[in-house]
Amino acid sequence: MKPRKIRKLLVANRGEIALRVMRTARALGIATVAVYSDADRAAAHVGAADEAIAIGPSEPAQSYLNIAAIIAAARAAGADAIHPGYGFLSERPEFARAAAENDLLFVGPPPEVMAALGDKVAARRIAVKAGAPVVPGVETGDLASARKFAERAGFPILVKAAAGGGGRGMRVVAEAGALETALEAASREAQAAFGDGRVFLEKYLARPRHIEIQLIADRHGEVVALGERDCSIQRRHQKIIEESPAPGLSSATRARIVAAALNLARAAGYQNAGTAEFLLDGEEFYFLEVNARLQVEHPVTELRFGRDLVAEQLRIAEGGRVCAPDEPRGAAIECRINAEDPEYDFRPATGRVIALTLPSGPGVRVDTHLGPGAEISPFYDSLAAKLVTYGPDREAARTRMIAAFDEFALLGPRTNAAFLRDIIASEGFARADLSTRFLEEHLPRWRPDEHATRAALIAAALAADGRIGSAAGGGFAGANGAKANSRPSPWTTLAGFEAWRRR
Ligand code: ADP
Repeated sequence: MKPRKIRKLLVANRGEIALRVMRTARALGIATVAVYSDADRAAAHVGAADEAIAIGPSEPAQSYLNIAAIIAAARAAGADAIHPGYGFLSERPEFARAAAENDLLFVGPPPEVMAALGDKVAARRIAVKAGAPVVPGVETGDLASARKFAERAGFPILVKAAAGGGGRGMRVVAEAGALETALEAASREAQAAFGDGRVFLEKYLARPRHIEIQLIADRHGEVVALGERDCSIQRRHQKIIEESPAPGLSSATRARIVAAALNLARAAGYQNAGTAEFLLDGEEFYFLEVNARLQVEHPVTELRFGRDLVAEQLRIAEGGRVCAPDEPRGAAIECRINAEDPEYDFRPATGRVIALTLPSGPGVRVDTHLGPGAEISPFYDSLAAKLVTYGPDREAARTRMIAAFDEFALLGPRTNAAFLRDIIASEGFARADLSTRFLEEHLPRWRPDEHATRAALIAAALAADGRIGSAAGGGFAGANGAKANSRPSPWTTLAGFEAWRRR
């Protein structure tokens, strides 16, 4: 494809990532087109774009996953490029192909590269060829091979979906008796989630760290790595806190992992921004998968390298070249604030945001699509805000994060904010005792603070009743639909509420 400038970009996503991409486009003088579902008619990304096009009903399958509707929107708006964000269609080769067929630049790798890497088994083979170690495993999910592998490798073992993502189709098997059921259940789950029931097996590492390498590759065969991220703090194999650099990682081990990631990217013919994920077990590391898109946790890398990864993605899509990275500086941490109810095993929480106070200040970045009055819908993922802090070293970033949480208040649907704050403030996190078992080891019996819970509920009820305003002073509509008063109020933070209660 000939190099060409992007003038108008369609963002095929919603939520914080749609806003994130549009922000960069705007800074580069690129016009933006939003697409939105019925549920998102009043969403922030619709207001932020230069134009917005409705693409269908709220169910993702009929809107944000509807390739034909999105391509039609891009053509109708006269867009010349599509940024897929993360999730939704971002790793679907047929979407990248449809874009190319309609003369739209796709901001991501070519469809055939995406297809090869999207299959975890195929990606493992590419890794092996490129000389990157993989977790001991077998590529098939039939019972006989599974039994033989388990005998050899020993339990526990992990059943994984070849088409997997987001921890779906994954089962830890502790003993031989549970193997058959786990294979069947994982395959069924993978079939339902991805339309592909193929599973494979890996040895389940007891206490690994999740380390990933940020890659940027151009169309001219040049690949660079922008350091690593440690994403070991996970709940049910889902990342909740990420940081860069990975604390305590020796420069020799870092160099070996980076070399493996670069070789892999070259072997796969990778292009654009991507992430190679590894598990680190002592000084041994193993390839997990490549995510052929921008990751949720990309801001920690941006803060350390002083680069805008979306800008790099756009430049590379236009045919530009990657630049060699400068020396990274400082340390950055990201917390994923999710709308979920810690009282009920972190089930997704939905509803209207009544009031929201966001932290700011030196070394503090918040990526969110929410504001007072915003609706958190049951149709989409529960990510409410990414709280990112940066400092000259890890401890500075960590204490800034605690302070940032003390400034953060969301009244409305419950969130995991108090949980994240307690993790960051824990002694185990302070001394970076990181592994994917962190929560079991350090906060096994964590419960939400009842007092804070009650305070939040009372404040929310009063706000809904129209008696308290928004900290932003922005006259949001209360839950009863009435225009709430716009007088700034200390009530919008828990600390403010507590102070009032004590009077
Ligand atoms: P997904 O694509 O579904 O997110 P991944 O392969 O990226 O799945 O793995 C997600 C997480 O699951 C890892 O970060 C790690 O915590 C855990 N995991 C995956 N494979 C293994 C393994 N072989 N041993 C131990 N933990 C694993």
